[in-house]
Amino acid sequence: LVSREHHPERTVVRVGGVPIGPGTMTLIAGPCAVETPEQTLGAAQMAQAAGATLLRGGAFKPRTSPYAFQGLGEAGLRILADVREETGMPIVTEVVDAGDVELVASYADMLQIGTRNAQNFALLQAAGESGKPVMLKRGMNGTIEEWLMAAEYVAQRGNLDIVLCERGIRTFENATRNTLDISAVPVAQRLSHLPVIVDPSHSGGSRDLVLPLTRAAVAVGADGVIIDVHPHPETALCDGPQALVDGDLRELAKLVRELPPIV
Ligand code: PEP
Repeated sequence: LVSREHHPERTVVRVGGVPIGPGTMTLIAGPCAVETPEQTLGAAQMAQAAGATLLRGGAFKPRTSPYAFQGLGEAGLRILADVREETGMPIVTEVVDAGDVELVASYADMLQIGTRNAQNFALLQAAGESGKPVMLKRGMNGTIEEWLMAAEYVAQRGNLDIVLCERGIRTFENATRNTLDISAVPVAQRLSHLPVIVDPSHSGGSRDLVLPLTRAAVAVGADGVIIDVHPHPETALCDGPQALVDGDLRELAKLVRELPPIV
């Protein structure tokens, strides 16, 4: 279902009216985690002023340590909905449990499936039945084939509104948090008709890498990027070191607007 062999035209996925697909270079930005109404609105306003058209923000956070901030749950979803009301930005937020899909889908414009759940087949199937577009991150240890098969689980349930997101893979290299597999973008676009975006924030894990990795994503022809921003990264409850502040985001957005893909 997701293969390009049977569907040669590349797909445009619409999220609350915002297109992601060939020729779009959609900018998605927002906080890694929803913390407070002020922080989320502040991040959204920064994102929107820079030209982002979709707001990201995690209410359910899958953290490596069980002692780390796990997200606000439904209270976080309510904050996102309020910020959507205020800014008009459609929201992208993660769901980590098949049992929460209905709840998260009742607030979200696009469901995010994270790298740690990339082969959680019950969750993928539930997302496929949610009626909402799905952003599917590549598993950090997953091959491109496994990623596309995960998308197939969503598609099989009647949902072809799937956006693939390359977010870095585990390699021997530990100078970066993950290794951005930039070649995955053209490979996935060759094998599948689905849009492919890049997450330079979670791949590099460091603010100074976000701009260069975004340049690479644009150059290689990604259909969008998803970026962490925070009004005060030094106080962030999740992934502060990779969050951009206002000026950085504007620079990045300018680059996304002006740099043509090198094809
Ligand atoms: C995220 O985008 O909030 C996230 C946790 O990403 P990943 O699943 O890629 O680690």
